[in-house]
Amino acid sequence: MGTATSARLFDRAREVIPGGVNSPVRAFTSVGGTPRFIARGEGARLIDADGNRYLDLVNSWGPLLFGHARPEVLAAATDALGRGSSFGAPTEGEVRLAEAIAAAVPSIEKVRLVNSGTEAGMSAVRLARGATGRNTLLKFVGHYHGHSDALLVAAGSGVATLGIPGSPGVTPGAAQDTILVPWNDREAVTAAVDAYGDDLAAILAEPVPANMNLVPPEEGFLAFLRAEADRSGAVLVFDEVITGFRLARGGAQEREGVLPDITVLGKVVGGGFPLAAFGGRAALMDHLAPDGPVYQAGTLSGNPVAVAAGLAQLELLTDDVYARLEAITIRVADAFAAAFANAGVVAQVPRHGTLAGVVVTDRPPRCYEDVVAADHDAYARFFHAMLDRGVYLAPSGYEVLFTSLALDDEDLATIATAAEEAALAIVT
Ligand SMILES: *Cc1c(COP(=O)(O)O)cnc(C)c1O
Repeated sequence: MGTATSARLFDRAREVIPGGVNSPVRAFTSVGGTPRFIARGEGARLIDADGNRYLDLVNSWGPLLFGHARPEVLAAATDALGRGSSFGAPTEGEVRLAEAIAAAVPSIEKVRLVNSGTEAGMSAVRLARGATGRNTLLKFVGHYHGHSDALLVAAGSGVATLGIPGSPGVTPGAAQDTILVPWNDREAVTAAVDAYGDDLAAILAEPVPANMNLVPPEEGFLAFLRAEADRSGAVLVFDEVITGFRLARGGAQEREGVLPDITVLGKVVGGGFPLAAFGGRAALMDHLAPDGPVYQAGTLSGNPVAVAAGLAQLELLTDDVYARLEAITIRVADAFAAAFANAGVVAQVPRHGTLAGVVVTDRPPRCYEDVVAADHDAYARFFHAMLDRGVYLAPSGYEVLFTSLALDDEDLATIATAAEEAALAIVT
């Protein structure tokens, strides 16, 4: 069917939008080629502006646990919209969503709703600093916590594909209080805590990192972080923007059995709308204005349409959802691993519960450098070979596979066949 319409739209977009996109990875910079402009989504499928259909393994970077245009979510959003789009005053829906989040996420007693994961991460940092009276942040290399100044240091994801360490425009002052430590490296954490402990406000981590492809924590590492945070008096922040409601109903903290002090949520919690959240123990959250002095606010925060969509999706999260999603993820990961083995491509398909990734390298990555060292050109060829066969993967080797419950047996068989052909295509 070709890509002429997407190509024309991309040309027009580049005239009026920097790089033609509103978020960098969408531009296909690291894989090359024409970004597909999407006209619609139907269940497991994306349909682009030229009418090409793709089985979607991105799902808007994670929010769409049930695939596109899930009727219950659409109905809830449409219904809410009919009653008005925004009030700038509290609504019952916000109370219900906050109650649902607090009931699901083990460490959350109180939660505040915001509009993006970036905003939630930034606010969590301010809260940690405000509550502790300390300044320094400990962050892991390759973990992504949104694009706020203090956190855009060695930040994986789209930053990694641009090959820049952080970003111009982040002042040395904003970055100097962020200490970087390699993931899964206990000695480095201990050394940083020893050196900065008295001023350490927060240890931040993606508990199951998924913005440097997928690099799960080694056995006991999260419990070790909990202990190091306690030893130094720092607040432990788990950025569960990806893992929250995707790895388990209660996120990585439930699945791994380690509780943070503050949890950052986004993506799934908004059901595909701009909504994110941060929460924790009541005593900690009560430092926020208006009860406390730590300021945080938002004109559209708790937007009724986004809240209704998020709540409708959370209400679909019955107990069997995660077992089904994991079974789907296992089938996709196994199909990819078999395809690479069959084609003689040396690649890793890391999987952790409902999350999986593809890293063209000879051993399971343990930290960010291992992912950087992978063969990203081979990933780009695999990406395009899959796209040509109607499967839409993330356009970067630093991202993970986001499966959805909309994928049925036939779709999974189609993905397996495409992977087998694509793996062969990239070696011949
Ligand atoms: C996507 C993401 C963010 C940022 O969320 P936005 O809504 O894009 O601002 C933060 N942390 C993690 C772990 C993410 O994956």
